[in-house]
Amino acid sequence: MNCMVVESGGDRVVIDCGLMFPNAEQALGVEVIAPDLAYLRAAGKVDAILLTHAHEDHVGALHYLLREFPEATVCGTRFTLAVVKEKLAEQGIAADLHAVEPRTMGMVGNHIDFEPLQVTHSVPDAVGYALLTEAGLVIHTGDFKVDWSPVDGKLLDVRRFAELGETGVACLLSDSTNAEREGTTASEREVGESLMRIFAGPMAKGRIVVAMFGSNIHRAQSVVRAALAQNRKIVLLGRSMQTNVRLALDLGYIRCPPDSFVDPEAAGHFPGRELVILCTGAQGEPRSALARLALGEHPTVHLEKNDLVILSSRVIPGNDRTLGNIIDHLMRRGCRVMSSSTGSTELVHTSGHACQGEQRMMIDLVRPRSFVPIHGEYRMLAAHARTAEAAGVSPLACVIAEDGDAVELRKDEIVAVVPNAVSAGRLYLDARGGFADVGEVALRDRQLLAETGMLVCLCVLDHKSGEVVRGPELLGKGVAGLDESRLAQARQAALDALAELAPAQRTDHGMVEEALRRAVRSVWRKGLEKRPMVLPVVLEM
Ligand SMILES: [Zn+2]
Repeated sequence: MNCMVVESGGDRVVIDCGLMFPNAEQALGVEVIAPDLAYLRAAGKVDAILLTHAHEDHVGALHYLLREFPEATVCGTRFTLAVVKEKLAEQGIAADLHAVEPRTMGMVGNHIDFEPLQVTHSVPDAVGYALLTEAGLVIHTGDFKVDWSPVDGKLLDVRRFAELGETGVACLLSDSTNAEREGTTASEREVGESLMRIFAGPMAKGRIVVAMFGSNIHRAQSVVRAALAQNRKIVLLGRSMQTNVRLALDLGYIRCPPDSFVDPEAAGHFPGRELVILCTGAQGEPRSALARLALGEHPTVHLEKNDLVILSSRVIPGNDRTLGNIIDHLMRRGCRVMSSSTGSTELVHTSGHACQGEQRMMIDLVRPRSFVPIHGEYRMLAAHARTAEAAGVSPLACVIAEDGDAVELRKDEIVAVVPNAVSAGRLYLDARGGFADVGEVALRDRQLLAETGMLVCLCVLDHKSGEVVRGPELLGKGVAGLDESRLAQARQAALDALAELAPAQRTDHGMVEEALRRAVRSVWRKGLEKRPMVLPVVLEM
């Protein structure tokens, strides 16, 4: 959920606007989490939006931003804009899209010059940005790794980063995702070579399924190459896989003969050993193509004994359990499953993010006067700051800024970090395209209801005397220990609580409700040490 604002001399640039998918705890009816744009709304103006690359956590919430700032120019490279255009069309949003290229300068408003900087990452056409502001040159790396043999041959622009370093960089903002990992990441090409060997090897008896992120076009290209080398055709399953590969084919980012692909509907006509199935779902997403294959729910593609499933991605913590279930189902079908954690010596995945060695190299090239680690949890930011200090950046000039903090730069120097300078909350949205923010309070209630259930305590009182006319009656949903004797006990506790109130207090709704809530809850707390949500309903007659 990346979204950063740069302001200089009255001009305002937003770098990326991504969304996030909820984890199991947040999932209670929430489909996506988007950044709260209240600060920008109050500020009233966005001159341009610079996009670094086409991942959801960098461009997924762009349509929310554009609905509020339709006039803002959206700048991105070719592949990024192709993906964005598709997403905006789905939402019915027109935008001023402006294609940019590395080593070509652009300008935002009157005070910010920018230049895209080519980087390597797990999606084509990823860039960072150099921003020439009134306070000096700022470099934002975007997501990056240093791949010396990228599948598409487009290297990280080491020379340009170094040149900018020579001219003097006021501040470097750099990707911290792998800041806790030593060394360097393996090249995407090594994964390609691995796939080539696996496809030619003894494990490849039947179908080969490769599950991965749809946007990893370099890897998709490697899978296509390995498939064609074994005279296999490729079947694409999962919407994001189909969309991304189609875009990549149209734009020439994947090259192969036009008859390399087979429609899923026709897959049944081919023997298993002539097919490679490239699908989404490597994170264990319950409705994904891989989950359907594992459960035997796909209408035209069926997996069987001796099929090989390769999970070509890192499992995001929190997803391991659902993915584990899918692996169980695949194995029940007799499939063999390979992943980076199954002890295979073959490399079936590599990260798109720089490890410490590459992060250090970036700092050495740019030699910034100050450093702000970005992208990652606090511990990763802290580890990255240590790397910068080790590289010679003054400890005073390495600052960790969290969501909502502002970093103030003046004449090449960080002069202040203002904590919580802007509101930077999260919007929990019911639907991807919609605007219905579930809100943190409702979400807490949903959590509580899921954990403890709810009791309704209904009571009718005489509006003058406050005497109980009917009730109290209790109704429970999802509450543990809901038996007749406990209900009777709770009814009695509620009656006693009402009796303890003075007549005048009994005509005060708030007091009556509070007394009922406390009385009913105490029965569950004493007996079961549970605190179900109690909803008192008091009516007057
Ligand atoms: Zn990324």
